[in-house]
Amino acid sequence: MGTIHELSTVLADQIAAGEVVERPASVVKELAENAVDAHATQVDILVVEAGVRSIRVIDDGDGIATDEVRTAFKRHATSKITSREDLFRVSSLGFRGEALPSIASVADVTLTTSTGASGTTVHYRGGKLLQQTPAALRQGTDVTVTDLFFNTPARLKYLKSAQTELANIVDVVDRLALSYPAVAFRLVHNQKELLRTAGRGDLQQVIAGIYGVQNARKMVAVDGNDPDFTLKGFVALPELTRASRQYITLLINGRAIKNQQLTKAVIAGYGSKLMVGRYPLAVLDLRMDPLLVDVNVHPTKREVRLSKESALAKLISTTIRDRLANVNLIPSALTNL
Ligand code: ADP
Ligand code: MG
Repeated sequence: MGTIHELSTVLADQIAAGEVVERPASVVKELAENAVDAHATQVDILVVEAGVRSIRVIDDGDGIATDEVRTAFKRHATSKITSREDLFRVSSLGFRGEALPSIASVADVTLTTSTGASGTTVHYRGGKLLQQTPAALRQGTDVTVTDLFFNTPARLKYLKSAQTELANIVDVVDRLALSYPAVAFRLVHNQKELLRTAGRGDLQQVIAGIYGVQNARKMVAVDGNDPDFTLKGFVALPELTRASRQYITLLINGRAIKNQQLTKAVIAGYGSKLMVGRYPLAVLDLRMDPLLVDVNVHPTKREVRLSKESALAKLISTTIRDRLANVNLIPSALTNL
């Protein structure tokens, strides 16, 4: 064993990147979430060769002040929380201040940003700032990431086929678009547009854009609440099913999460209406006091800890059950699509 010493910042960032930046889709997720946190109304995501060649995210959000850009690339640097209390009341998608330094430590990153007053471009590669220059840009941020994992060969090798990596990217953007119907998203892969949402705040329209108008017509609105939770969204009629649970999207205070118990609650709401091995399409927008959700469980925040999980599960299954029991009595909820 050698002597004990502190790791260099670049190495520490690369270690953190191991958790936050698993694959191209993680980069898309982090950059697009930053755009949403910056109050963007339009987020364009341009990907080449499933993100392995390049990932570009352009937003019309707040931008970063020129004198703060370098700080944004430091680890644990964030504008989103300041106190311990904030940590328990997180309302933004990001708060750990890890994404930009992590991505910059394992790729080539060029970020141009403007708050409207002044603009700047920074170029990082392998965690090092290579250049900062003034830039002219309307308000917003434009980030391009290339050469992902150029200095972490094991990560590069671990990537799956282009098809799989692209599917992961599409999944990330779909879920973000479902979480933020008021934001217009555009996903382009190798110059082909894969998704475009209108940003009019209409969840049903986003669902139609992602799953197709025909499928959206076979989904009904659900609405429920108890003292702690409100639930809104759309669930498929029992005739519209898939072979996987992944079409059940759970949003908690605007964040798409994975949760087995809540996913089971959705399925339980269908009772015996589903065939074995078949699962519904559903998008549930769940709102609650942020104190009931601990987001700080995992670096990617896909898993959260819920204080009243069983009560929420019950609300989900009973709301869906009651809605589907009435389904033949109520004319199609989706006549305006
Ligand atoms: P976090 O999102 O957890 O705060 P990041 O490393 O992703 O950490 O970003 C660091 C900071 O850089 C953010 O807190 C934010 O202030 C700023 N930032 C990053 N991306 C954008 C963007 N697209 N628009 C405006 N500000 C941004
Ligand atoms: Mg972030």
